[in-house]
Amino acid sequence: MGNFNWHERAAALQVDGRIVIDGQRRDALSGETFTCLSPIDGRTLGTVARARAEDVDAAVRSARTAFDSGRWAAKSPAARKKVLLNFAERILAAREELALLETLDMGKPIQYALSVDVPATARCIAWYAEAVDKVYDEIAPTGRNALALITREAMGVIGAIVPWNYPMIMAAWKLGPALAAGNSVVLKPSEKSPLTAMRLAELAVEAGLPPGVFNVVPGYGHEAGEALALHMDVDAIGFTGSTRTGRRMLEYAGRSNLKRVYNELGGKSAFVVFPDFADIERAARTVAGSVFFNQGESCNAPTRVFVHESVADRFVEIAAAEATKYQPADPLAATTIMGAIVDETQMNTVLGYIDAGRSEGARVAAGGRRVRSETGGFYVEPTVFDGVGNAMKIAREEIFGPVFGVIRFKTEAEAIAMANDSAYGLQASVWSDNVNRAHRVARALRAGTVHVNQYDEDDITVPFGGYKQSGNGRDKSLHAFDKYTELKTTWLRIDPE
Ligand code: NAD
Repeated sequence: MGNFNWHERAAALQVDGRIVIDGQRRDALSGETFTCLSPIDGRTLGTVARARAEDVDAAVRSARTAFDSGRWAAKSPAARKKVLLNFAERILAAREELALLETLDMGKPIQYALSVDVPATARCIAWYAEAVDKVYDEIAPTGRNALALITREAMGVIGAIVPWNYPMIMAAWKLGPALAAGNSVVLKPSEKSPLTAMRLAELAVEAGLPPGVFNVVPGYGHEAGEALALHMDVDAIGFTGSTRTGRRMLEYAGRSNLKRVYNELGGKSAFVVFPDFADIERAARTVAGSVFFNQGESCNAPTRVFVHESVADRFVEIAAAEATKYQPADPLAATTIMGAIVDETQMNTVLGYIDAGRSEGARVAAGGRRVRSETGGFYVEPTVFDGVGNAMKIAREEIFGPVFGVIRFKTEAEAIAMANDSAYGLQASVWSDNVNRAHRVARALRAGTVHVNQYDEDDITVPFGGYKQSGNGRDKSLHAFDKYTELKTTWLRIDPE
């Protein structure tokens, strides 16, 4: 991690929260701002432009002008690749600054901002850059007197609306495929963590991305977000966030220009442990590691843990002991593995769920309280519930904090039925040493990704997205190009001699 004193660097940090349009920084047209606070100790990080509809309109016009001019869309894929690879390199070169901004803005430990968020963002941009000049179009198997080309074309202006839990990575999952395919993008970061988005846009311009191709409008969801999703000249919305807001995205599209909406939404992922899995300790450690990483603020966190009744006591004992290793600490300290919850509102939501679990009769096996309040920041202990019922509020609703619950089952059929009895279907996991059972249950689980005997294997090469109310889109992999391109058929007649 170098010899950084992150506190000194943080104290010296100058935050620029202005909008980026046409490659230029500017204030909101109204001149309004909002204050950006750090959840690590409540300090003020700076002011951020409060973009509203008129700013969003200016950003969309800039994006449309850039698209229509062909200054990006008409470049060859190889030329776009070169610029985007340069962008990825600049992200890596700015790793300390970006990691520090991310940690201060949303509370995650600096070591993970440095080792996960920054490199994953750069890797995503570079992967789509590398991919775009290797994807071929199709020719249909038609008769001899015709030629039918099936091609993919950039859509135009993409609105990207992202959450606060992995601000840069979520933005990159939209930017990578959308920009590589030749689109222009207007990015609306979360008002809870807007700072890195504007820096990314500046780095992109420095890397050679033409002005107007990537604009950023920080602001509130019901103002800037709504204006972007309702805009008549936005062709598609790539949305990541809560299921509640995802519903609105579909309404906005219906009320405006029927823009395509790709929703990547919440989760309540099931983790199913059978008694024939020998290494129960590994399974329990994996749950703790997956849920407590990023303070539990991960959409795919396996928070409904179904454990066979014969091994459940041991599982809970190991998981509770494991939880104590994730005590929240100073996010700017090099060894910290659990940081602060993004803000006071979210912390109170998490504590409210913990209270709900207690009052519905679940037992707190570890954690359950706010800690480090003397810092002025927002920290919650890693929390394990035992004796959870699948109908309880803590099993049905996404908590989005460091909390999971153990639900006991007797039979495989019962485990599958309970695992699938959820509005969500983002990810799931099955733990069994019986290969038939592992495959059988993996097939039966209704989720976009199913893990067998592990949880966090992940890579940019595979799609990420959910079944049911976890969304309809797929980020990552070549499949993401489908979201930001239109499919065109071109018929050509070939006359006989
Ligand atoms: P959120 O829905 O509150 O906000 C997401 C974004 O939408 C923010 O930029 C916000 O400003 C904007 N927004 C809010 N209300 C809006 C409105 N009325 N109109 C337009 N835009 C609006 O979600 P959040 O709290 O920022 O993020 C947490 C959620 O994101 C969780 O549910 C989590 O599971 C989900 N998530 C999903 C994935 C995935 O890939 N499926 C990844 C990360 C997070």
